[in-house]
Amino acid sequence: MSIQNDPILDLRDYLGFLVNAGYTEVVIPKSEHEEKMTSSSRRELEAIRVELGDCRRCPLSNGRKNIVFGEGSPDATLMFIGEGPGADEDREGRPFVGRAGQLLNRMINAMGLERSDVYIANVVKCRPPSNRDPEPNEIGMCFPFLKAQINSISPEVIVGLGRIAVGSLLGRKVSLTKIRGTFYHVDGIPIMPTYHPSFLLRKEPDRRWKAEAWEDLKKVMSLLGLPFDGRGESR
Ligand code: SF4
Repeated sequence: MSIQNDPILDLRDYLGFLVNAGYTEVVIPKSEHEEKMTSSSRRELEAIRVELGDCRRCPLSNGRKNIVFGEGSPDATLMFIGEGPGADEDREGRPFVGRAGQLLNRMINAMGLERSDVYIANVVKCRPPSNRDPEPNEIGMCFPFLKAQINSISPEVIVGLGRIAVGSLLGRKVSLTKIRGTFYHVDGIPIMPTYHPSFLLRKEPDRRWKAEAWEDLKKVMSLLGLPFDGRGESR
């Protein structure tokens, strides 16, 4: 190949031109295949939401203000799954928007990601009264919808936040302190159990728990091939 026709040099010239022109980022459009995948996952998620409807399948419907379906990228490689909505989430109809949600956002950012890159959902979609644990029958009624969301998103890895979420995903009771930090596989998807952000907030200012959660997230980053540059150590 002659150097005049070298596409790498052409690209370098073009990028140099953009930098000189004041551009600070280049948006690479999605391929046709990626666009199709995104729209098919989005359509599937919309269909699941329609199927859920104004759900009254379990007693948690009695006290809720809003169903908290979940949100994020329909083709996320990483999903975070928590236990259930709290008061803030119930009011807004969105997952992880209170103090625990702000900590989760910082955890996601520490991994080098934005909240919009991942998908966030809960095991039950309606707030348990007084923030009690959801009952097995409530989880049993709601879980098929979460399973359908997981199937349509098809993430490369799931982070289970807290004992209830991890136990529901693995289908058994768990002691989080015993199993955190190790990948478990369900239907071929690796699941990393770690602490729920609410638990981490309750444990402040003891940093041991956050440090352990960060170790868990670093393993997830490694699995996803995300670069680790020492960020997150001080969070
Ligand atoms: S928690 Fe799930 S199953 Fe129960 S009412 Fe809400 S959406 Fe329906």
